[in-house]
Amino acid sequence: MSGARRISIFGATGSIGQNTIDLVARDADAYDVVALTGASNIKLLADDAKRLGAQVAVTAEEALLPDLRDALAGSGVEAAAGEAALLEAADRPADWIMSAIVGAAGLAPGFRALRHGTTLALANKESLVTAGPLLLAEATANGADILPVDSEHSAVFQGLVGEDIAAVERIIITASGGGLRDWPVEALANATPEDAGAHPNWDMGQRITIDSASMFNKAMELIETKEFFGIAPDRIETVIHPQSIVHALVGFCDGALMAHLGPPDMRHAIGYALYHPDRGHIPVARLDLAQIATLEFHAPCDIRYPALGLARQVMETGGAAGAIFNAAKETALDGFLARRIGFMDMSAIVEATLDAMSSKISLSNAPATLEEVLQTDQIARDTAWAAIEHHETRT
Ligand code: NAD
Ligand code: MG
Repeated sequence: MSGARRISIFGATGSIGQNTIDLVARDADAYDVVALTGASNIKLLADDAKRLGAQVAVTAEEALLPDLRDALAGSGVEAAAGEAALLEAADRPADWIMSAIVGAAGLAPGFRALRHGTTLALANKESLVTAGPLLLAEATANGADILPVDSEHSAVFQGLVGEDIAAVERIIITASGGGLRDWPVEALANATPEDAGAHPNWDMGQRITIDSASMFNKAMELIETKEFFGIAPDRIETVIHPQSIVHALVGFCDGALMAHLGPPDMRHAIGYALYHPDRGHIPVARLDLAQIATLEFHAPCDIRYPALGLARQVMETGGAAGAIFNAAKETALDGFLARRIGFMDMSAIVEATLDAMSSKISLSNAPATLEEVLQTDQIARDTAWAAIEHHETRT
């Protein structure tokens, strides 16, 4: 199909992946789908790969390859599985790749795609938090673009079009406050994964929804802002905005504050990256400001959201701190989901991991390669599990 854009979607079966497919499927002739990837949801992966006529469908789980082969039998779509197959999928020529695998597993395919000069639509915030400077250098070295897909960062990116970054005084990213926003602080220690897994405004994957309630998601986004836009940590702010209508604001040296407004629907940020540098028609609800009537903003409470203070430390330290922070936060979330630690213990585990790691390595030394990032990630995970075990023996 000449003229069609070749695209791949990593993490196609997830929340971001499905929203991306929703936009692509509306205009299917405009795209040549190269690869779709998923993990355990083989039926969804195979159905979408067949529907979109993908070259290859890849599951991260090798044990599920026979199931994927069965599901794709006779369709002409290739089946593949495992980490090497994910990288091979990223090697296939494409014009645009959506990076929407959750967690550190999303790093390597994104790096690989950049090596080929492919435009990377980046939802996987872990890539920037753990390996921001390396990722940007890889893009620059290969003349590839990275387009932010996190809604706040897409909003900032749009606010900077035609502007000189030197004229930016501050960046403010908003936070909904998550599902436990109105709980008394004393009650948070007893919150369960079910309590924390319901979001008032956004419909997202389970892990990021819990990270919203703890504000670890916003903590990640502060670090992401520093890495992507190259702005000093003390110029990056966050404010609680329960309506999730204003996604971010850019403050300029003349005092002007440019806000980005939109409904809480990820198809906006995904679509901006998909149609960039043009704007496409995106079927999100149009805001009725008179009906919304009120937009509220208030400062986040440090006691309720200790993750924000940890993010400040990580931004100031730089180097390996982001990789450690992310690994510790993912491990703490695993511990919370397994009901081995409580909701408020997650930040204590991350803090303990950063402390313990600082006696093993110099945190401010940046990993020089992706392999070093992944090694640091593994050591930090082991350290975080040790902190969880220590916590269990005390309680
Ligand atoms: P999700 O859990 O809904 O989907 C995750 C995807 O990754 C699925 O396709 C899953 O099969 C795949 N996956 C999981 N583990 C894997 C592994 N080990 N190897 C390979 N693939 C694996 O997650 P999501 O909410 O779509 O989020 C995806 C990414 O986008 C995350 O980094 C998240 O922080 C970011 N993000 C999400 C939203 C949102 O609204 N959902 C907004 C901003 C940023
Ligand atoms: Mg976000």
